[in-house]
Amino acid sequence: MRIVLLGPPGSGKGTQAALLKDRLGVPHISTGDLLRAAVRDGTPLGIKAKAAMDAGELVSDELMLGLIEERMGAPDVKAGYLLDGYPRNLAQARALDELLDRLALPVDKALALTVDEEQIVHRLAKRAEQEGRSDDTEEVVRNRLAVYREQTAPVTGYYAEKQLLQEVDGMGSIEEINQRLTTALG
Ligand code: ADP
Repeated sequence: MRIVLLGPPGSGKGTQAALLKDRLGVPHISTGDLLRAAVRDGTPLGIKAKAAMDAGELVSDELMLGLIEERMGAPDVKAGYLLDGYPRNLAQARALDELLDRLALPVDKALALTVDEEQIVHRLAKRAEQEGRSDDTEEVVRNRLAVYREQTAPVTGYYAEKQLLQEVDGMGSIEEINQRLTTALG
């Protein structure tokens, strides 16, 4: 299974991906996790990406394509993938398609978690308390949501046009949502 997971920040993509990857036997590829590791390790990518991440802005398409090209080229991806956090705008969606065509690993399905904004702000405030992520402050969360609305939301339309989109209600318990995703995957 080759899956792209879509949904606003705080929609639970990461939580659900962690549950699904074992069942599907595919790697969970989270660009947010990859970037945070790069920042932690102080790699050239991490150094360049940090300011955008701390502001809740997108890291440049060029840096992201380099990162995703490297990751998708690894042998474990042959089994499939659960992609979380990429693509985040239409240019990334097109670049990803080109890359995946080249690798002969096209997307089977795009699953979009739908969550209302009040719920998101609440979830992210809780995560800020628990994990202390530097981009979970209220102001940066607000900016991440604005960036999502303006740049990332159109990506669902991109996959809808390709008849690959399936929307899944992201409200409820972790187990309920997991059940819905499993059903959507058929
Ligand atoms: P969330 O979905 O909760 O906002 P992520 O962990 O997916 O968090 O991403 C954290 C930050 O990493 C983003 O706000 C952004 O700065 C950067 N980032 C992650 N993926 C991408 C991407 N595909 N393109 C540009 N920036 C990205």
